[in-house]
Amino acid sequence: MKKLSILGSTGSIGTQALEVVREHPEEFQVVALAAGTNLTLLEQQIREFHPVLVSLTSDVDAKELERHLQLSNIHSTKVVYGMDGLVACASCAEADVTLNAVVGMVGILPTIAAIKAGKILALANKETLVTAGHLIMPMVSEKGTLYPVDSEHSAVFQCLQSRGEQKIEKLLLTASGGPFFGKTKEELLHVTLEDALRHPNWSMGKKITIDSSTLVNKGLEVMEAGWLFGLSAEQIEVVVQPKSIIHSMVQFTDGAVLAQLGTPDMKLPIQYALTYPDRLPLSGKRLDFFDLQKIEFKRPDMETFRALKLAFTVFAEGGSLPTVYNAANEMAVSLFLDRSISYLQITQLIWDAVMNHKKIDNPSLSDVLSIEADTYDYVKKQVLHL
Ligand code: NDP
Ligand code: MG
Repeated sequence: MKKLSILGSTGSIGTQALEVVREHPEEFQVVALAAGTNLTLLEQQIREFHPVLVSLTSDVDAKELERHLQLSNIHSTKVVYGMDGLVACASCAEADVTLNAVVGMVGILPTIAAIKAGKILALANKETLVTAGHLIMPMVSEKGTLYPVDSEHSAVFQCLQSRGEQKIEKLLLTASGGPFFGKTKEELLHVTLEDALRHPNWSMGKKITIDSSTLVNKGLEVMEAGWLFGLSAEQIEVVVQPKSIIHSMVQFTDGAVLAQLGTPDMKLPIQYALTYPDRLPLSGKRLDFFDLQKIEFKRPDMETFRALKLAFTVFAEGGSLPTVYNAANEMAVSLFLDRSISYLQITQLIWDAVMNHKKIDNPSLSDVLSIEADTYDYVKKQVLHL
């Protein structure tokens, strides 16, 4: 039986991971859960899964939760909070596997803690690799184990499961294109928050749904893939495949192309990262190729969706630029979700932040964290002055 710590248990990936656990009660035991602010759902999860350790962002929420648990005579769950709490869950002594499914750069420290504590790391939190891949991948090679959860990266990982040396020539990262594929810049001028939150194929957290619509998500995934599989920006190509049936493809140096296909359901890559190298049964819809009839491929429009083009540039140039790109996007998306800026301003703000930044080569962890804070401030100030 595998013992799991799930960071971000109240989110889209976290709740689907718990569905996987429900489907295989004999395979998994939940020992730690960490959430941000959703005390109500975390409390329900504690009643169902009986973890020994849980964490919330604020001490006020943590005290409130403790009070509820005491009133219900639940004394076997310890409640912690803040970054220390998140790190404690990531490295929880009882856990074998830590699933990091928090959103944003807040995932960096718990990722490092999980690796240092010798946990198998199932990583959904792509922002961590984008900003600190140069620090994390060497730790993984030295003493860690990391399995990707992001569907495209899981697809690549699945395509690489054969023996012997396999040299990748090119990685074909598929993209749905998001809700605005085919639109012109003029048409994007009047996009509303509601429009941007309507993803054609996947139901996900709000931040990644907006990122999918701007193609920033694909940009972050290019960088994530680069770090995970040791590839340069030139070795990665984005292919739009609107129905999200092919989750990604690998072209080898002998010209062979392997792809992983399936219905769009995150439970598969989540489960594979938790059970690798084994495959367990999983309920859900299966592909019907006769229903499907055809799979279409298109080129991404990197002039209209210029955040994707910029992602290739910042990844190729490296250093602190990916951190600025990611942090500017995190702040811009949160301002868009608050209705403080318009849709096209998200990409503009990322662009401005990157252009304004003086690159640092090989940033340390404290550089990454301070560049994150500076970039958040820069974006907020830009918006205040508009
Ligand atoms: P959600 O917004 O749905 O969930 C985020 C989770 O993180 C919630 O449990 C939230 O808690 C928690 N959280 C947020 N901030 C903090 C914090 N400061 N401390 C502790 N916990 C925190 O996001 P998703 O599940 O959609 O995405 C999670 C990660 O997985 C992202 O990096 C995303 O890019 C990646 N991913 C997601 C996919 C998807 O299908 N959703 C697909 C591929 C990758 P609370 O709600 O309680 O505040
Ligand atoms: Mg993805």
